[in-house]
Amino acid sequence: MPEPNEIDIAIVGAGAAGLMAAISAGREAQRRKSPLRIAAFDGARRIGAKILVAGGGRCNVTHHQVGEESYAGGSSNTIRKVLRRFDVEQTVDFFRNMGVKLKREETGKLFPVTDSARTILDALLKAAADAKAELRHPERINAVRRTDGGFLLEGDLGDVRCRRLILACGGKALPKSGSDGAGYAMAKALGHSVTPRVFPALVPLVLEKSCILRSLSGITLHTRIELRSGTGRRLKSFTNSTLCTHFGLSGPSVMDISRYFTAARFEDAEAGLFACWLPDEERSSVDVQLQSLGKRSIGRWLRELLPERLAEAVFETADVDSSTAGHQLGRDARRRFLDALFEMPLPVTSDRGFTHAEVTAGGIPLNEIKASSMASSRCEGLHLCGEICDVDGRIGGYNFQWAWASGHVAGIHTVDSLIG
Ligand SMILES: Cc1cc2nc3c(=O)[nH]c(=O)nc-3n(C[C@H](O)[C@H](O)[C@H](O)COP(=O)(O)OP(=O)(O)OC[C@H]3O[C@@H](n4cnc5c(N)ncnc54)[C@H](O)[C@@H]3O)c2cc1C
Repeated sequence: MPEPNEIDIAIVGAGAAGLMAAISAGREAQRRKSPLRIAAFDGARRIGAKILVAGGGRCNVTHHQVGEESYAGGSSNTIRKVLRRFDVEQTVDFFRNMGVKLKREETGKLFPVTDSARTILDALLKAAADAKAELRHPERINAVRRTDGGFLLEGDLGDVRCRRLILACGGKALPKSGSDGAGYAMAKALGHSVTPRVFPALVPLVLEKSCILRSLSGITLHTRIELRSGTGRRLKSFTNSTLCTHFGLSGPSVMDISRYFTAARFEDAEAGLFACWLPDEERSSVDVQLQSLGKRSIGRWLRELLPERLAEAVFETADVDSSTAGHQLGRDARRRFLDALFEMPLPVTSDRGFTHAEVTAGGIPLNEIKASSMASSRCEGLHLCGEICDVDGRIGGYNFQWAWASGHVAGIHTVDSLIG
């Protein structure tokens, strides 16, 4: 009999990716009638904390259309290959076979029909148990070492030996959930590098204290947020809802652009964000409308399009009096007004950090991982999956889809590498 701490496949981290790896490895071992000992270790007090808070407690499991273009980080070619190995249809089937029906909302996001993240976590935990994958928690792994036949894990509750190792420790987002970046040190100890920058993604942004938008807390609006280089080149934009808060801006448009903004700022201190408050209008046609307002005031006109407090912020930014009649609006004032409406500069001072981020940008470079198996090309017997990799997706279920796909591939292939 093997010692209790001698394991065939050890998975460090039992979040979305680690649980999926455990389930896939366990099922594959059962399918091939090979009684492998599989265990997932998690140091967190509460298992699956991130799954439970995801999607506002409803868990946005995936998106009906997932392609590599919705991700940033490492090579999109590698991301595509991994996503194709376990696609959205397979995710939907995977959950359906566990008795969890998913529904697609208008936005294309998929949620459990129960609207409860608990349904997802419970199904995953049951599937892991059914697949005879042990879940050991709270049991934190503090260090890993390569040995002759595999790996030695130094855990809180003693040493563990394993033949194959899957690192699924996540990144640094929401550290209180247990993902504090410890996985990077373990990967490094096994010969990997970490991207030069690891930073918060899908994170709200802080505006200068004096910025008038900070006084609009609670306003939510369909907006286009655009990133421009210091020379004015348009780099990226997202059109979606934007939420004004007491510290600055949040909402999907801002969260989605945050990682591109931060990345651009590393290279270009003058890169900046601009808000267009009328994303469905053309500037030129609004210009024409303004010129045909006649005696009607621009204030009355704008208040039909924007919430009153935001309209006031636009007038203040443009330095234009809202009582001005259309026919009295001079050329310069009209340009300033259109600028404030279509490209209001957003004086961002920082992001809200990992505590408020949904995901991590950066991680283990994809060129150190084989897409076909999520196996390390630096260390034999090691696989990596989930957010620890240099992949971050948009809001909408893309990050979980990466976790499911990469976790599945890693799980299957560890078994494959053991029994051939
Ligand atoms: C508030 C919030 C909402 C989100 N909502 C969504 C959503 O609706 N849809 C979506 O697609 N994505 C969402 N995400 C992102 C998504 O949750 C993550 O991308 C995904 O959970 C990553 O899975 P993972 O398993 O790679 O990492 P994690 O979920 O971070 O799991 C890593 C696990 O490893 C454990 N661990 C770390 N180090 C050790 C160690 N040394 N020893 C033992 N255990 C360790 C941690 O305790 C943790 O449980 C959200 C994220 C947040 C923070």
